[in-house]
Amino acid sequence: MSLPIYVDAYSGYKANERPRQFELDDVLYEIAVVEDQWHSPGAMFFKVRTTDGKRYILRYDERADEWSLQSGLDGDELLARPGIELVTLDAESIRKAQACIESCEQCHPDDADIPFDWVLVEVTGKHGRFDFMLTDTVRCPNCKKPITEKTLVNFRG
Ligand SMILES: [Zn+2]
Repeated sequence: MSLPIYVDAYSGYKANERPRQFELDDVLYEIAVVEDQWHSPGAMFFKVRTTDGKRYILRYDERADEWSLQSGLDGDELLARPGIELVTLDAESIRKAQACIESCEQCHPDDADIPFDWVLVEVTGKHGRFDFMLTDTVRCPNCKKPITEKTLVNFRG
């Protein structure tokens, strides 16, 4: 099991080389030491110790440019925390999110690579364990087909 997290990392010779801190459920975890790191096809793993002495395993997906918290060590504690908060999006936020879309996987399968809920995260600023509930139908501005949270879209700009 793993959970997507927001990570602030140093960019060294390679982007996102060393994580400095990560954020989960609006809590910031400062990383004191990277104790170990290893590479698997497509991903980097970091065993880190935070300033409060806990150990976590972070995974960086190089292709997706995505960080997640892996199970194991003290990470199990965080992963076991209950409650995914449901965020209801009003028409205003939906309009804002819709304005960020250029096209979608239904009309531009080669360009669309971002799930629409990532756009929702950006628009709402809600990083963490949130699920979004759309109160209105979102349509691709290009092909007018409906878009769900999991539809891949092409981000404008
Ligand atoms: Zn489309």
